Amino acid sequence: MSADCLFCKIIAGDIPSNKVFEDEDLFAFRDINPAAPVHILLIPKRHLSAIDKAVTADELLLGKLLLRASIIARDEKLDEGFRLVINTGKHSGRTIFHLHLHILGGRAMGPLG
Ligand code: 5GP
Ligand code: ZN
Repeated sequence: MSADCLFCKIIAGDIPSNKVFEDEDLFAFRDINPAAPVHILLIPKRHLSAIDKAVTADELLLGKLLLRASIIARDEKLDEGFRLVINTGKHSGRTIFHLHLHILGGRAMGPLG
């Protein structure tokens, strides 16, 4: 838990969220400003600031993150496809510094960039 982190506060329940999934390692909730009909944020419960700060010891956690994203997409009936996004660093324009995987779907996404 990082005291000044919005997503840590969401995990703790100090800030309300529309929860989609939770287990001992992961938490998922709907984005407050959805960019697609389905827009879910999947995050590790342990505060990890960014994917480029991950180390070998995080391998299992990152594997769980990807697998769970796929299961959530299936549960959300995104049978036509979906997009997974992890914004990292200045050029990505990221705004929250707790690792999060965007799960986007429910419409055709168009090209990246
Ligand atoms: P980033 O740009 O850092 O990759 O994405 C951060 C995401 O968090 C944005 O899509 C934004 O809409 C979402 N977000 C920011 N604050 C909140 C919040 O308080 N609740 C929820 N559910 N989503 C948030
Ligand atoms: Zn955090």
